Amino acid sequence: MQIILVSRTKKVPKTFNLADRRLRWRLLGVAAVAVLGCAGLGGALAMAVASPHDRALTEIRQLRQQVQQQNLQLVGVRKDAQRDIDALAVKLGQLQAQSTRLNALGERLTQVGKLDDGEFNFDEQPAVGGVEDSTDGGYSLPQTLDTSINQLANQFDRQQAQLSALQSLLLDAKIESNLKPTGMPVDGYISSYFGGRPDPFSGHSAYHTGLDISTPKGTAVHAVAEGMVTYAGERTGYGEVIEIDHGNGYMTRYAHNSKLDVVPGQRVHVGDVVSEAGSTGRSTGSHVHFEVWYKGRVVNPLAFVKNHR
Ligand SMILES: [Zn+2]
Repeated sequence: MQIILVSRTKKVPKTFNLADRRLRWRLLGVAAVAVLGCAGLGGALAMAVASPHDRALTEIRQLRQQVQQQNLQLVGVRKDAQRDIDALAVKLGQLQAQSTRLNALGERLTQVGKLDDGEFNFDEQPAVGGVEDSTDGGYSLPQTLDTSINQLANQFDRQQAQLSALQSLLLDAKIESNLKPTGMPVDGYISSYFGGRPDPFSGHSAYHTGLDISTPKGTAVHAVAEGMVTYAGERTGYGEVIEIDHGNGYMTRYAHNSKLDVVPGQRVHVGDVVSEAGSTGRSTGSHVHFEVWYKGRVVNPLAFVKNHR
C-alpha cells in the first residue's frame, strides 16, 4: 500500500510506501511516543485535580509506615535496655550478698576479738534492694536500681569504716597480747611449783616465788613477752638473773643462768633469747627459776606458762 501526500508548496507529491520496513518502524515509534505523552499528561492532570483529602490519606499511610518501623526499632532498644537492666540487677544482687557476708565476717571478728558489741553494728540489717520491689516492671527500674546502688555504696563505706576501726582495735589487742607473759621461757619440765614448799636447802617451810623448770645447762632461755631488759647480772640467791619490764604492769625474772645474752636497756621481742640456763646462785641443779610480777606483786606464773599466744 502507498500513501501519497500532495502539497501546495511542493510541486511533486510525497509518496510513502508502507511496504518499506524502515518506514513502518519509524511510524510505530512516533505512535508510541504519542501514547506515552498522553498517559503522562493524563496522570499529571489527575494529580492536579486530585482532592486534598486523597493526598492527606497518602501522607498518613506513609507516616504510619514510618511509625511502624520506628516502633520496631524501639522494641529492639527496649529489649537491649531490659537485658542491660537485668544484668545490672543480677550484679546488684551479688553485691548485696557480698555485703551480707561482710557483715557476718565483721560480726565474727567482733566476737573473736572479744570487742564490745556496742561499738559495732555489723548486725545492722543490710539495706534491702529495690530490685525485687519493683512491681510496675519496665521503665521505673533504672531509678530503683540507682537507689539500690547508692544504698549499697553507702553500706560499703560504713562497713569499711567499721572494719578499719575493728582492725586497729584488733591490732591494739595483739600488741597488748604481746606484752602479756605467755608460754614457757625454756624447754623443760616443771620441777617445782609456786607457793609454799619445803626449802630445798634447809628443809624448813618456805614460800617459792616462781616456777622451777628443769633443763640442761646452756639451753636457750626466751623472753615470754615483749619488753625492756631492766636488770642483767647477779642477785643474791638468784645467781645470774635477767629481769624484763613489759610496760603494762608485768615484769618477768629468769634466774640461775649460766650466761646472760642481753644488757639492761635492751628491747626484747617475744621469743628472743635472753640467756642460757644454768645453776648459778642458790640452786641444786641446772634449771630456770621463772617469776612473774604484776604491779609490784609476785604472782603464780603457772597460768601464764600454760597459755598460748
Ligand atoms: Zn625456784
